[in-house]
Amino acid sequence: MIHVTIWNEYERERSRPDVAKIYPEGIHGAIAAGIHQDGFAIRTATFDEPEHGLTQEVLQNTDVLIYWGHALHHKFRDDIVERICSRVHQGMGLIVLHSGHHSKLFRKLMGTSCDLLWREADEKERLWVVDPSHPIVEGIGPYIDLPEEEMYGEHFDIPVPDELIFVSWFAGGEVFRSGCTYRRGQGRIFYFRPGHESYPTYHHPDICRVIGNAVKWAAPVKRAPTYYGHHEPLEILAK
Ligand code: ZN
Repeated sequence: MIHVTIWNEYERERSRPDVAKIYPEGIHGAIAAGIHQDGFAIRTATFDEPEHGLTQEVLQNTDVLIYWGHALHHKFRDDIVERICSRVHQGMGLIVLHSGHHSKLFRKLMGTSCDLLWREADEKERLWVVDPSHPIVEGIGPYIDLPEEEMYGEHFDIPVPDELIFVSWFAGGEVFRSGCTYRRGQGRIFYFRPGHESYPTYHHPDICRVIGNAVKWAAPVKRAPTYYGHHEPLEILAK
């Protein structure tokens, strides 16, 4: 069983009727419904809950955290950013979606500004699969078309990804590295670009399939805990 926590800021769905209409159960609710399958135990958490819903206990019992945020990045508690980072280093998987690129959490884990170009113009996005053997694209064709999305364009100020899985093309002419993996400590991280709140992206079956595949890919490997520091020899050392 993989224990998944879907974290959503849950601000735009409550402040904007057009977003509420697309996501009546919140973005977290749509993702939970979209990735639901045997083997996943899913819970959700939102910004307004105590400790943003990400208490030590919740994180200790989370194998993979999915993270969507936008308007409240600057208000996210620094001590909880630290708490999530240390869980990633211990092996918790992390999937950062769309505007999560500018969260304190993602920028801290990347060590760069994570800045990019953007535009809201209801334009077509085509996500090309550029690593067809990767488990994150299991069941996905050569590309995913989204009829309307927000544009994110290069340059995206991230470290060179360990693996590049999707490259997006936008009708306005820009391109973007829209599916990137990283390892930090024992943890696996997947950044996945699509998901602006005013489009029904998280109702798209292929988008949910990619996120579900990423949960399985990012789930921790079960093994003895890693330790560091001074170490006694395992063999008798010759004098
Ligand atoms: Zn957006």
